[in-house]
Amino acid sequence: MIGIFGGTFDPVHLGHLRPALDVFEALALEELRFLPLGQAVHRPPPRFSAGLRLRMLEAAVADQPGFMVDRREIDSTEPSWTVVTLASLRAELGERTPFCLLLGRDAFAAFHTWREPRRILEMAHLVVMERPGEALFLEAPLEALVEGRITAEPADLARAPAGRVLFQPVTQLRISSTDIRRRLEQGRSLRWLVPEAVERLLPRFQDDRPLPD
Ligand code: ATP
Repeated sequence: MIGIFGGTFDPVHLGHLRPALDVFEALALEELRFLPLGQAVHRPPPRFSAGLRLRMLEAAVADQPGFMVDRREIDSTEPSWTVVTLASLRAELGERTPFCLLLGRDAFAAFHTWREPRRILEMAHLVVMERPGEALFLEAPLEALVEGRITAEPADLARAPAGRVLFQPVTQLRISSTDIRRRLEQGRSLRWLVPEAVERLLPRFQDDRPLPD
């Protein structure tokens, strides 16, 4: 099975990478694709340019077998809707190949507000990584959306191409890109919060701004 981990990665940090590795191992994934956001539709534009976010991600995953970076959103000039990205992956991987979308609990809590969530569930499984400090409260529309789909068994995901929701406990690391950006602005150390390769890249690019549209 293939895993897709979408995010802004502004910048990527160990709170993305270690939980992603936990999922990779627990589900025995063949491949885990990190998919950095291209044109933001839900949130303000990232602090760092697409080029630098991509470079940092590539540096972060370079020595982990099975991890790779998928640049389709970055290379596209269209707004990055997950449903559109998944349709393009489906077209490439075929109808029957199971794949799962990894997301943190905070992202999952708003899943029902995404564009065409039902269609997303027709194309992919969801793997919700337990994130520290966030109690799970499912709003009624989200509960309705996932009803009958939840499983505790990773093997269930390999049996169907899409449509199941798995809650996967992962290493709890209270690290966020927001905090990393704040530390960077204050000239503080990023050591042991981001991979060394990312730590080496970041300070030199403090003035990096998103590329104009
Ligand atoms: P920001 O602070 O800018 O909002 P972020 O640290 O949440 O950024 P994103 O790139 O927005 O990072 O997140 C991508 C995905 O990774 C989301 O699904 C998010 O829930 C998940 N994620 C981010 N940080 C963690 C963490 N420490 N543990 C588990 N999941 C995380």
